[in-house]
Amino acid sequence: MIVENIIEKPETIVPRPNLQDYDEMYGTFEWTSAYDRVEWNDCGRLNAAESAVDRHAESSLKHKVALYWQGADRDEKYTFLELSSLSNRFANVLTELGIEKRDRVFIFLPRIPELYVSFLGILKTGAIAGTMFSAFGPEGLYDRLHDSGARYLITNSSLKRRVYEIRDDLPDLERIIVVDETDVAEDEVSYPEAMKSASDTFDVAKMLPDDPAFMLYTSGTTGKPKGVVHRHLAIVQQHLTTEWVLDLHDDDIYWCTADPGWVTGISYGILGPFSCGASVVVHDGRFDPDVWYSIVERYHVTVWYSAPTAFRMLMRAGDIYKNHDLGSIRHICSVGEPLNAEIVHWGMRAFGLPIHDNFWQTETGGILIANYPSMPIKPGWMGKPVPGITAAIIDDDGNEVPNGVEGNLALKPDFPSLMLEIWKNPAKYQEYFMGGWYLTGDRAVQHEDGYFLFVGRADDVINTSGERVGPFEVESALIAHPAIVEAGVIGKPDPLRGEIIKAFVVLGDGYEPSDELESDVRRFVKTRLAGHAYPREFEVVETLPKTRSGKIVRRMLRAKELGLPVGDVSSLE
Ligand code: AMP
Repeated sequence: MIVENIIEKPETIVPRPNLQDYDEMYGTFEWTSAYDRVEWNDCGRLNAAESAVDRHAESSLKHKVALYWQGADRDEKYTFLELSSLSNRFANVLTELGIEKRDRVFIFLPRIPELYVSFLGILKTGAIAGTMFSAFGPEGLYDRLHDSGARYLITNSSLKRRVYEIRDDLPDLERIIVVDETDVAEDEVSYPEAMKSASDTFDVAKMLPDDPAFMLYTSGTTGKPKGVVHRHLAIVQQHLTTEWVLDLHDDDIYWCTADPGWVTGISYGILGPFSCGASVVVHDGRFDPDVWYSIVERYHVTVWYSAPTAFRMLMRAGDIYKNHDLGSIRHICSVGEPLNAEIVHWGMRAFGLPIHDNFWQTETGGILIANYPSMPIKPGWMGKPVPGITAAIIDDDGNEVPNGVEGNLALKPDFPSLMLEIWKNPAKYQEYFMGGWYLTGDRAVQHEDGYFLFVGRADDVINTSGERVGPFEVESALIAHPAIVEAGVIGKPDPLRGEIIKAFVVLGDGYEPSDELESDVRRFVKTRLAGHAYPREFEVVETLPKTRSGKIVRRMLRAKELGLPVGDVSSLE
């Protein structure tokens, strides 16, 4: 286990963090006390889209830019008032089509403004918005549209071809709304035409806190992806964690690099930041270090939320950050995978700022554990539970284990953004709970100072010679070597040791596989890891299999290594 020195914050951080005294807030905070922060009405009803956008359209923020959109060769911007009016129009379009509460409306679009407008518009009608990555193929689309029984789908002229490959197998799908065509087929609707004639005022549906707002499909280790449904009330947690963890202030320009096909792109790409009245940058394009740094420079991004895989790729790109003025950045956060200590140190070198790791899941809808701007960072550690979240490490019988002992990371299921249901699968939903705890499926350790350390997905933890080893610590030791950019580690069955550790590594530019390099890496990791945690096998690979949200898919490495079926691949990059 790598435990590095705590990093103290540079003194230049302005403004003062929203969450100044973590301990005090943690000790006293209750979720119900925060309901009125998000336009909770007297009858205990709300609508997350109204909380996110409409209330700012009626305040002094109405002409503030809510969305800065950067496409490949053009850009656009929308104020809160414009976003509110456009989403009202779209809500009217859906109403005209006969939409009802709880209907599923899916969005299959690249990151273009229509995605954001239609997402908000769907919520305003009381229907459930579903999002899908624009890279999905027909099979991934079929699983989601069929299981959810989606009634409407919003897409564009090029993506709709993939939908037509499976159109006949989707009996519930009534209409396809096409955002870039005016001349459409009979069961299609032209978005531009319909929007033109729709009114820009709409009587937003007042929802009960537990009414569903949006859903996302998430893949497990086996079986088909499952539909995780989130309630309108989740916005309370998304709002507060945006304030506390992402630390958004009025004059921040915030860039969340996640696609709304992944929960981060919804909770912290739409609902959380808009509800805080922040200006959000959206980039519709692929990862490219130079382009990314240019976006920071162009929009004077102050707060940046991304994922470890992106930071590792930026690190791999070397010194090119020096060609850009990145001085506007004041706060950086990361989610989705363990943030290796090495990356935190690189962040200090490249940006003069530590990267703040935080932890949560599709199913939890909002951040659970985090490093806060007002607290020292322990590189490699996920941080401490958000006020209002009770997190613990429990054994397989549901008993809490002492500090320092590895176990199942569990939460009291009493927070507003916890999923409402798994669509049409109550049995699957129940599997998440045991003895009054919600089980994350992750293994972790809590230190006596309260910080949590991620060990691995329960399915990924390796048992070698009777010792349990989390892939994260081995991967972190490997990427600390200058030649290695990324590493994925698995357990491989072994007659003597139960499992041995095998590492798949991606080399940085300018490094070639060689016997010398391999012995150097071996020497290097041996000095950093306990003997049993040392990988006995290495393989240099070009790339690692990843999800679209950037997670290394270790089950895929394992399946390939052992010749096993790879399971659901729809969310793989
Ligand atoms: P998803 O639902 O796709 O966002 O995946 C959630 C899973 O990603 C968690 O259960 C963890 O396994 C992993 N994860 C997310 N954030 C972190 C983090 N900060 N550190 C380690 N693992 C993380």
